[in-house]
Amino acid sequence: MNPTLEIFSQGEEIVTGQTVDTNAAWLSQQAVAYGFTVTRHTAVGDKLEDLIGLLQEISLRADCCICTGGLGPTSDDLTAVAVADAFKVPLVFDEIAFAQISRFFELRNRPMPASNHKQALLPQGALRLDNEWGTAPGFALQHGRCWFAFLPGVPMEMKHLFQECVLPTLTSRFVLQPGILVTVKTLGLGESVIQQRLKAIEIPTAVQLGFRATADDVQTKLLFPSAYPKAAMESLVAMLAAQLGDYVFAIDGLGEITGGLAFEVDKLMAQEGKTLALIETASHGLLAAKCVGLNWLLSAHYDQAVAQFGRHQPENGNELIQMAKTIAVELQSSSGADMVLVQLYTGEDTIMRDKDKSITVYNILLVGSEFHQASHDIAGPIQRKQNQAALLTLDLLRRYLQGGVEKF
Ligand code: ATP
Repeated sequence: MNPTLEIFSQGEEIVTGQTVDTNAAWLSQQAVAYGFTVTRHTAVGDKLEDLIGLLQEISLRADCCICTGGLGPTSDDLTAVAVADAFKVPLVFDEIAFAQISRFFELRNRPMPASNHKQALLPQGALRLDNEWGTAPGFALQHGRCWFAFLPGVPMEMKHLFQECVLPTLTSRFVLQPGILVTVKTLGLGESVIQQRLKAIEIPTAVQLGFRATADDVQTKLLFPSAYPKAAMESLVAMLAAQLGDYVFAIDGLGEITGGLAFEVDKLMAQEGKTLALIETASHGLLAAKCVGLNWLLSAHYDQAVAQFGRHQPENGNELIQMAKTIAVELQSSSGADMVLVQLYTGEDTIMRDKDKSITVYNILLVGSEFHQASHDIAGPIQRKQNQAALLTLDLLRRYLQGGVEKF
């Protein structure tokens, strides 16, 4: 069984929502990747009794706890006092910590305020974690079942201390067997449809299945225990991918470096060795933005395309496809690109901006004299419509490059 780990964020600003607790998210990802089971995130304001109570509870139930914040010089920074009270250890003056804090001010030609003296008071027996990036040193100690590490709240300082001081201790103190996470990335299928399709395969209980929908894809995640046989893992992933068909654009975690859709298209275009020109309307320049810096993109048109077609598009799909084909041929001859991608859509500005109405996006890919086509209905707020339009147009190119679209 993996050791358990809790994350404890201190500060009134976290509890009141003024600061988003990015420390907990980052630490969780690290802990899971190193083989901990993260059981809880807790945020507590600047109340001494609450801090003391929580520390005592955690010391009984978790194997490890990483706490961030509350190490500063002000009266609301209570972590060291709370630890001393909760675990009945005195605070002792740490001369090395004090020298480091003094040096921090000397190097900046600033007098050290008297309040910073407090940061050199650490619970007796704690291991000091030297903070080269700020004034607040961290510290670590064992109490009860749990090994605690207390880190500064400032994310840059926290990350630095975690990597330099905490990680080496974690890997030597705990037997860590990180699981293997495989992520199957799809575009165009919703989570519920994916779940429905996966009913056809049996997922062993040792393997954890999860889903994550982002703005750019839907990720189906399989977390395998560390000792899971490789062949069985690959076969399960292949079965899952087969159920999702050509909606899958990347599989992460099997050794290949993968990224978002543009990254995958870039890899395929590099193999193909061809150039592309594009015209987009519904995605308002986002498609070109997703491909910025990719050297196969010869030219991208947005403003002229909108001026020319954006407000005068026929509502009839067939007419629109004919229009897109004509534009594609013109762009092919004017740009000299090997491939041309054209995106048009039905619907006026008002429909585009109305979250309760959908647009239909028509994509045409011209390669040599062959046309390929895909159309999609897209609903939601304008930002979602724009982003989905950009992705789905790019996805036609991806499908073509992977041999997944018919000419028409
Ligand atoms: P300092 O010496 O800077 O006071 P500290 O350890 O006391 O260090 P806090 O005062 O709790 O840290 O927080 C300092 C700043 O770090 C906050 O104002 C906030 O911007 C950021 N911060 C604190 N906790 C978090 C958190 N959990 N997630 C993201 N940012 C945080």
